[in-house]
Amino acid sequence: MSTKNFHIEVSGIQVNVIKKDIKNIHLAVYPPTGRVRLSSPLSMKRESLRLFIIDKLGWIKKHIRNMNSQIREPEREYIQGESHWVEGQRYLLNIIERDSAPQVEIRNKKYIDLYVRPGSDKARREEVMREWYRDRLKKQIPELIPKWEKKLDVQIDDWGVKLMKTKWGSCNVDEKRIWLNLELAKKPKHCLDYVVLHEMIHLKERHHNERFKALLDQHMPGWRNVKEELNEVVY
Ligand SMILES: [Zn+2]
Repeated sequence: MSTKNFHIEVSGIQVNVIKKDIKNIHLAVYPPTGRVRLSSPLSMKRESLRLFIIDKLGWIKKHIRNMNSQIREPEREYIQGESHWVEGQRYLLNIIERDSAPQVEIRNKKYIDLYVRPGSDKARREEVMREWYRDRLKKQIPELIPKWEKKLDVQIDDWGVKLMKTKWGSCNVDEKRIWLNLELAKKPKHCLDYVVLHEMIHLKERHHNERFKALLDQHMPGWRNVKEELNEVVY
């Protein structure tokens, strides 16, 4: 099969074009960086391809945006001296091996002392930390829900915490249940407050429309900054 490979740039977006012996144009945006690839029939002229890309620009940008809003956390090794975040503060991990039940403690506003049994590997250390984060978050959420229930005049029947890859929270409107991302334990408290409010507003409005935004404006005027803060990657 004969192929030809080149780039076309449209509004700052590099599109990798591959011409080959196919009948139809195929356009795709790939994770994690939002690389754009266009496969085209051999007969198509460069100018027609450019026009095709311009026509699809809205679609391309939307997909790149979605990929950028995924929750990206740098990989952790759970080793001595590594940075870990708790409620928006950075701490240094201090590993203490001892033959008793695992434990996590913040010390001197600077360290996270992680007590694990001798020989605990990365996976085990991660698991201990995760459960500790989960406990902390589960203590914070019950303070926030009644506050927003009162202000929004809605009622939540159930809530939970789980690790999510692409969302900070979710809301099942019919079952009046909200889920909150475990990763929120690493963010400042006002981020958690925003996500709780956001998910609870869904009980009044399912879609992210003007009414939804007006409710956010009314109850948390600075929500746009918080939303941006949530999508920053911290090392
Ligand atoms: Zn939403």
